Amino acid sequence: MQSRTMRGFLVLAVAAMLAVGLAGGFVASKENRVTTSENLNSVLWMQTSVEYQMSVTQAYRLAEVMVDRALTDPGWTAIPEQTNARDLRKTAVIFDLDETVLDNLAFQGQLLLDNVPFSPSLWKNWQTTGSPTLLPGAGRFIRRLQELHVDIFYITNRDDAHADETIKLLRGLGLPVDADGANLLSKNKPPTKGSDKRSRREIVAKTHRVLLLLGDDLNDFISGVHGTEATLEGRDRIADAHEGFWGTKWIIIPNPIYGSWERVLYGFDSKLSHQKKLEAKLRHVRGW
Ligand SMILES: [Mg+2]
Repeated sequence: MQSRTMRGFLVLAVAAMLAVGLAGGFVASKENRVTTSENLNSVLWMQTSVEYQMSVTQAYRLAEVMVDRALTDPGWTAIPEQTNARDLRKTAVIFDLDETVLDNLAFQGQLLLDNVPFSPSLWKNWQTTGSPTLLPGAGRFIRRLQELHVDIFYITNRDDAHADETIKLLRGLGLPVDADGANLLSKNKPPTKGSDKRSRREIVAKTHRVLLLLGDDLNDFISGVHGTEATLEGRDRIADAHEGFWGTKWIIIPNPIYGSWERVLYGFDSKLSHQKKLEAKLRHVRGW
């Protein structure tokens, strides 16, 4: 009888503590609970940390070293299928744009502050009216390529429908764009189609020995790694098969916020709800 009274008292005491937010552990009072996003740490790492800034600086410094090496080796090409490298006098470096040359972190930060997920319409709005900046080292490396008379190509999945805005943006940042915009190969630029970049790389490789590829996504380097056919295992296999390209001909810039690395975790099914995507992602987390 006595112990039942005691148990009842304890239950009431714990309930009261929870109600006023005095319980320890992970139970926070309602007013101390923060609304956050799964991207909070990734966005802050990229917006505030020296570690990210220097990772990018380091990647561009490596690119400078490798471009000198590439120029002295007439057989050197960053495109595995390029067989005409020795016949070509013109040389090129191919850049992805977003999170490789351009810093769109204000866009990512605003999504987080507004607590809204990425959407194509918000991205389109940023693409046409936003003001990205240059990543550290990008401008300096591009100027160096100009001194070396190496041509610069941008292969981006910004849509070709907005090519005029992209050209204006690049010029505004002091980046070289041909008078006819020929060195900007946006998504769906005729005669190419879709977000796979292989056909656009092939256009460059017809006329130029490609010295380096720079990007933040596996799709910036090799085909068959994004889209509903892609799998984690397949991406690993393809990346491993080109092991000798990484850090020599292929220079990758870190991007922990978004990319095909994230979409493959839910099978590139963009129609899934946010909740379903989270559930799919959690199934990939490995514990001990
Ligand atoms: Mg990118």
